[in-house]
Amino acid sequence: MTTTILDLLESLYGRATTGLKHNSAYELLVATILSAQCTDERVNLITPALFRAYPRPQLLAQASPEEVAEYIRSAGLWKTKSRNLVKTAQILVREHQGQVPQTRAELEALPGVGRKTANVVLANAFGIPAIAVDTHVFRVANRLGLAQAANPRQTEEQLMKAIPQAKWIQAHHWLIQHGRAVCRARNPLCESCPLNPYCRYYSQEKSSSS
Ligand code: SF4
Repeated sequence: MTTTILDLLESLYGRATTGLKHNSAYELLVATILSAQCTDERVNLITPALFRAYPRPQLLAQASPEEVAEYIRSAGLWKTKSRNLVKTAQILVREHQGQVPQTRAELEALPGVGRKTANVVLANAFGIPAIAVDTHVFRVANRLGLAQAANPRQTEEQLMKAIPQAKWIQAHHWLIQHGRAVCRARNPLCESCPLNPYCRYYSQEKSSSS
């Protein structure tokens, strides 16, 4: 069943990648920190000016949170995010020669970087297999039955067991895209969803309504 679902997702979404525009691991890290409780579209509107002002961690590390806040006010949680961005840049400069580290432990030690953000950076900046579980991945994976989990961490562990490692990065993107386009939080488009013959949520809904 999992293989069929993955094959269908691949046929629907092909080679997918993050919606966050970036040209380096540093830019992806900044964009991902900004994306907490903010859409990718909003982040992509903010980051061009931010990256022009602070194209390297060394420059961001010297900024004040108030200066950074001027660029990111529309991102939500801007006070916390501007503090975290400056502190993160300072750690990159002080402890990592201005580079974004490539281990989960080092990434999660950065302010504003939790497991999900670390996974996004590992997978999309460095090609290291990881499954970042955001709200879309959590919802779609559990509806489909790829996971039966109460929280994102359990969902990640179950997905890593269910999905071949070579497909972790793409599966993350496929689930996000399906969550945005079809399997929406409210009113999922189940009747037109190509995955409905294999979906646990759909079969439960059908049996409860019959
Ligand atoms: S059938 Fe419905 S619940 Fe299942 S994946 Fe498709 S849209 Fe989501």
